Amino acid sequence: MANRAYNFNAGPAALPLEVLQQAQEQFVEFENSGMSLMEMSHRGAIYEKVHYEADNLLRELIGIPSGYKVLFIQGGASTQFAMVPMNLLRPGTTASFVATGSWATKAIQEAKLFGDVSIAASSEADKYNRIPSISELNYASDVAYLHLTSNETIEGTQWSEFPDTGNVTLVGDMSSDILCRPIDVSKFGLIYAGAQKNLGPSGVTIVIIREDLIVEPSTPVPTMMRYTTHAKADSLYNTPPTFAIYMMNEVLKWVKANGGAAGMETRNREKASLLYDFIDNSNGFYRGFAQPGSRSLMNATFRLGSEDLEKQFAKESEAQGFSGLKGHRSVGGLRASIYNAVPVESIRALVSFMRDFQSRNG
Ligand SMILES: *Cc1c(COP(=O)(O)O)cnc(C)c1O
Repeated sequence: MANRAYNFNAGPAALPLEVLQQAQEQFVEFENSGMSLMEMSHRGAIYEKVHYEADNLLRELIGIPSGYKVLFIQGGASTQFAMVPMNLLRPGTTASFVATGSWATKAIQEAKLFGDVSIAASSEADKYNRIPSISELNYASDVAYLHLTSNETIEGTQWSEFPDTGNVTLVGDMSSDILCRPIDVSKFGLIYAGAQKNLGPSGVTIVIIREDLIVEPSTPVPTMMRYTTHAKADSLYNTPPTFAIYMMNEVLKWVKANGGAAGMETRNREKASLLYDFIDNSNGFYRGFAQPGSRSLMNATFRLGSEDLEKQFAKESEAQGFSGLKGHRSVGGLRASIYNAVPVESIRALVSFMRDFQSRNG
């Protein structure tokens, strides 16, 4: 396809071209059924096959042990900011959070609606340019759970290793780095991730939850907001977002064909190094925002000498076929989101543009 942009959008984000083409071929008629998958019942055998295939592929590719349920829920990761405390925070208990940036802050605000919140560690004093080290974490042994954001999409920071929390339930928002590398799911009681960064289009959020945490909440919680509801019905309590789940299933097949989580990590490290190495060798023309030890494999944030120059960079890059490089409105600067589906060729093209931009403005 000749006119495909170099897509660095933060989310919704680039999808594998093969997946889009496959979906196009299957869109009008699915498996000789005389109709589109979008037109048929979510209770029929054809859709159910897609639904359970996606569940199984997630288990296989993420390495989800037995004893965990995978749920498909709507409302985005933002709804999980509320659903987690609604279900896991009992009156009189506290949830502890690692305050790493914009998304962690939103999760904290929402949890405060349902109970007490403590901050286990914060990098706010450093403008959230780093992930606190595991030794900085300070939380009581009786907290309901410890919540972390594995990748701060806006600031461009990422946890490189996760804490062992023992008897304390660890909860992770992995919306922007799920399946970018292998992880040890058994460290977590609950993981959630909106699909629209690494797993597919928007519309579905996956929740990986250890079975002992699937219990009826002790306070009234709406049916749709209870994990028990979705777990009991294999995420078919009500109509699921069938198109989003179908697309996610196709993306998961693509991940599998490309080496699974380990294959993704190899590609992602290569891509991120190309970009960060170039930034580090630009004699200060480009400056990485995140501290090197906290740099994200998924969102590379960087700055230029002035906001005017950054505006010019955003404008010129857009004109040359690069999409989404302007930083998030809340922090400014520039950001290249280089999720699983962003090909290495896009990074090479970006580095070449950056070199040229520097030579004209340096
Ligand atoms: C995008 C994102 C969210 C919000 O996702 P929605 O699906 O828009 O609610 C939450 N957390 C992180 C880390 C994100 O990247």
